[in-house]
Amino acid sequence: MIEIKDLHKSYKMGSNSLHVLKGINFTAEAGELVAIMGSSGSGKSTLLNILGILDGADSGEYTLDGVPIEDLTETKAAQYRNKFLGFVFQSFNLINYKSALENVALPLYYQKVGRKERQEKALNYLDKVGLKEWASHLPSELSGGQKQRVAIARAMAAEPKVLLADEPTGALDSTTSYEVMALIQKINDEGNTILVVTHEEDIAHMCKRIVHLKDGVIVEDKKVKQVRAEQYV
Ligand code: ATP
Ligand code: MG
Repeated sequence: MIEIKDLHKSYKMGSNSLHVLKGINFTAEAGELVAIMGSSGSGKSTLLNILGILDGADSGEYTLDGVPIEDLTETKAAQYRNKFLGFVFQSFNLINYKSALENVALPLYYQKVGRKERQEKALNYLDKVGLKEWASHLPSELSGGQKQRVAIARAMAAEPKVLLADEPTGALDSTTSYEVMALIQKINDEGNTILVVTHEEDIAHMCKRIVHLKDGVIVEDKKVKQVRAEQYV
């Protein structure tokens, strides 16, 4: 599903350059649930942004579902991003003046799905994350965990091939974090490929595999005996 080879990325600041990714090699098959760990500044978000085609690498290869991403034009890249990738962020990134339902329906609007079908599908996804009753509420009326579940429903509504989550539990207390991870495990059980960036060891252990970034390379890549968070569903 995802294949990257010898990926490099530097940030240029004036005459200085910060070499963040120094030859990353990584593959993930369809259906994997991978945690990406590493200390602050190790390049986790940089890597996820490249995987999400939100940013480009300086060199190396990136193939997503058989398609070499570095060869795509800007327009094609945007199309791929909308069609193949779902994003979840620490800060939820919901639109504050839109209801939970409207937030979830948004990617469907961009996919030119008709109004009625949009509403139906969005409600269905809200139901999946346990928030059907909250459809007409604004984000400001929801708890942090509920906001993140709306954000996950929104990401899934577009039916992406890969879900990329950057510190999805970073703003949540531990019980709420486990609830959100239980949901991510459930979505993964349904066959979705998911990458989760996290600082937290216990969150990482709810994934099936942990990749450790250090000094710009992957220093550890191990399978984990997954900790189920089912009691929180
Ligand atoms: P955290 O755990 O704090 O989120 P991270 O592992 O996600 O950290 P990145 O955000 O990928 O780290 O940043 C890696 C390094 O690159 C850091 O030193 C950061 O300051 C730098 N960096 C990130 N984005 C930019 C940018 N747009 N311009 C310049 N430097 C950047
Ligand atoms: Mg980060």
